[in-house]
Amino acid sequence: MTIRRVRKVLAIDDSQPNLILLKAHLGSMGLIPLLADNAADGIAMAIEQKPDIILLDVMMPEIDGFEACRRLKADIRTAAIPIIFVSAKDQSDDKISGLKLGAIDYVTKPFNKGELQARIGIVLQMTELQERLLLLANTDELTGLSNRRRFFEVLEREVLQTKIRGGSIAVMMFDVDHFKNINDTYGHLNGDKVLQQVGKILNENIYPLDIAARYGGEEFVVLMPGMPVEVATQRAQKLRMMIDKYQWEIDNKRISITCSAGVAVFNGADATDPYELIRKADEALYAAKHRGRNCVVPYDQLNPEDKVQAHQDEDFRELQSKISSLALQVRGQTLGIISAFTKAIIVKDPYLASHVENVRVYAMSIAKQMDVSELLIEQLHTAAILHDLGKIIIPNNILHKTTALTDDERRIVQRHPIASADILAPIGIFGQEIVIIRHHHENFDGTGYPNGLVGKNIPVGSRILAVANTFDSMTSAKPWDPTSKSADDAIGEIVSLSGAQFDPEVVDAFKKAYAENHNAWPLSQKQQVAALTQ
Ligand code: GH3
Ligand code: MG
Ligand code: MG
Repeated sequence: MTIRRVRKVLAIDDSQPNLILLKAHLGSMGLIPLLADNAADGIAMAIEQKPDIILLDVMMPEIDGFEACRRLKADIRTAAIPIIFVSAKDQSDDKISGLKLGAIDYVTKPFNKGELQARIGIVLQMTELQERLLLLANTDELTGLSNRRRFFEVLEREVLQTKIRGGSIAVMMFDVDHFKNINDTYGHLNGDKVLQQVGKILNENIYPLDIAARYGGEEFVVLMPGMPVEVATQRAQKLRMMIDKYQWEIDNKRISITCSAGVAVFNGADATDPYELIRKADEALYAAKHRGRNCVVPYDQLNPEDKVQAHQDEDFRELQSKISSLALQVRGQTLGIISAFTKAIIVKDPYLASHVENVRVYAMSIAKQMDVSELLIEQLHTAAILHDLGKIIIPNNILHKTTALTDDERRIVQRHPIASADILAPIGIFGQEIVIIRHHHENFDGTGYPNGLVGKNIPVGSRILAVANTFDSMTSAKPWDPTSKSADDAIGEIVSLSGAQFDPEVVDAFKKAYAENHNAWPLSQKQQVAALTQ
């Protein structure tokens, strides 16, 4: 794995003839000679060029060799460079002094060419062995990325630099979604291949000063020195999308692999404890999981609900993820039970039957125009079917009222997303769908309910469901309110609310979805039937 490079040897000696001789010897060994005729220049050159060995004369005017050695060993930038004294001082005491200062060897002048070359050769062999060991100690075997140990080493250094020099430093933490299922379904060897590929995608798409590391099992971290939070979040989004879009294939079957990511940033003097930065990225990652996976959450955009969730302890999280994988197996069956349950509500309010189905079709159609994962589409499908379950708590006289609601009545109506979520929670397997449902009446500008979430803090599934839901309400006649808008009027109204009630990206996708698919939409089919029966 080591890339053999030509080694550089710096000779510091005030005698020009000696320098010329050393240059020739080093050149004949295939080494790059760097030459300085005084200690001050030599030290500066060592800092700049990072030579593999320094050959250091002892007797020099101004700064002598011993003092130069002391300074080189005291500077973190040069401390690790092996120093060989090359000196006419041949007393044992001199040699002992030199070696005590941290030099690796001591050669006396006039030196024998063969002896000098042999000693340099030994030091270089040591350097190479050291580098190989270091690389092994720093590398994750499976992915070839830096490992956790190396990551913390760089993190500690970079956090300190940020504290001293200002600027910012970003950490993003990625975790493969539902990775356990990949292992369970396709075996560990295939799981390993997926991890290798995720590592490759991350590593190949970061900048040279960034470092990608394997943090643990299916968790990766990327360290981006100098990166402010907005840019880091965008870059994390890009990496997430690359993983999502990669053509994953196992046993000739196309599969879907997604990742969630948390991003945390320290700015200047905030940069204190590197572990704190990791803790924040981890908390944000957990929120990303909770918000539906395959998304990126920056720590500074966590809302109180995320925080409560994130503080649940590790054991609980582990148990939860085990249960969720089990739950996946019974999900299909449960969906059947739920749809039977939904039918019970339909008895209460027959309009809901067609509403739920229409919303499902519109939401699917919008989602497919957007850059969302298959997994989210599946969750949205379920969320659409279940989103109005909570209307069971609203008395019909309020549900069907055509005049303005009183404050109390409005409060009851506005509880329905929470009620839907509460009904589903004990079933325990619709975690992500519950989040989507809970927030489907949030407005993009923060004026919605139940939490007044703003913009992209609203889960994307909820933002899609909001448009689908409104479009159907606008265009459907209800038994208690037969007025309905034409598709064009409804679209016009939704577009006029883009950026206020609705996410502009979703509105754009909605317009495209309508243009491309509206012939298959329930609304058009209803109109076609109406036209035929007229
Ligand atoms: P979530 O979306 O919540 O992250 O779900 P998950 O299934 O990805 O998370 P969980 O932590 O439950 O499972 C992680 C799995 O990763 C469990 C473990 O067996 C597997 N794993 C960890 N290291 C390796 C590895 O080196 N190779 C393989 N094949 N699997 C690994
Ligand atoms: Mg994990
Ligand atoms: Mg995972």
